[in-house]
Amino acid sequence: MTHPTLTLSQITEVVNDAYEIFRHDRSGHNASYIPYLADVPSELFGIAVCLCSGESVAVGDTDYLFGIESVSKVPTAILAMEQQGAEYVLEHIGANATGLPFNSILALLLEKEHPSTPLVNAGAIAACSMIEPRGDRAGKSEAIASFAGRLCGSRLPLIGELYRSESETNFNNRSILWLLRQENRLFDDPQTALDLYTEQCSLGVTARQLAVAGATISNDGFNPVSREQVFDRRLAPQIISLIATVGFYERTGEWLFRSGIPAKTGVGGGIMATVPGLMGIATFSPPLDESGNSVRGQKAITYIARKLGLNVYGSSRPVIAR
Ligand code: GLU
Repeated sequence: MTHPTLTLSQITEVVNDAYEIFRHDRSGHNASYIPYLADVPSELFGIAVCLCSGESVAVGDTDYLFGIESVSKVPTAILAMEQQGAEYVLEHIGANATGLPFNSILALLLEKEHPSTPLVNAGAIAACSMIEPRGDRAGKSEAIASFAGRLCGSRLPLIGELYRSESETNFNNRSILWLLRQENRLFDDPQTALDLYTEQCSLGVTARQLAVAGATISNDGFNPVSREQVFDRRLAPQIISLIATVGFYERTGEWLFRSGIPAKTGVGGGIMATVPGLMGIATFSPPLDESGNSVRGQKAITYIARKLGLNVYGSSRPVIAR
């Protein structure tokens, strides 16, 4: 089996092409259930790639600070596995797709004690409750934010206005919280768990930072920019399996069928994709489909994946020229 060799300039060309092809695409709508997100300019669009060597490509609005939203579920899931062990997280939260929307109460009611995944709202709130030091709100908040920053290669600031906007309107997540409590699926103070979840969703991130996070995961936990081993390398395949299983919620199967790339979306318009052993790819474009996934981001990453032959289920993925 031959593995085609890709150069940085070939990758740059394909990323620039993707930007040009989709830059005028206006399909989808900003998330409107969080007032702050409804007002983010819809035309913003950026694509960033970070290779496992640390080299990078960026085009468009890749330095715009936007709400990380559900992409934050990924670093917190890794941190929970680091602190508690992967088997503990599997046993107490799970690794299964719900097949239902990210904030589904129905999924939670159907699950009962049968856990799902730290990458939907219910499991992510449970993961926040699991983070150490338990009983210490400030300590847990710092643990979550600093771990996300190490994954991205630099600190993620809190977008205070987004946090307030989301805290005032998160009635659905409050319902999820108390159902979790009812089923004994929280491991610390309930209100703190929800507040930390809302706070982590309100961290600001850029597409460039998300590409570094994707590359770190692709690179067995070694951040190629900061040169730090951020998490135990044995957790990399496990977090990638969680991302592949439910990264696009009820549309995950379609996404994988088309792109062949494990990726996690957020309703702030970000997508973080991971191509094991090769690179992280991130896009930012606020308009979403009905499932809460960035429309233009999906098109751009699918285009790049096909042009560069990145499908992780294929047998002849490329190598990158040194
Ligand atoms: N903070 C959002 C929520 O809980 C995140 C949803 C998402 O990005 O999918 O509704």
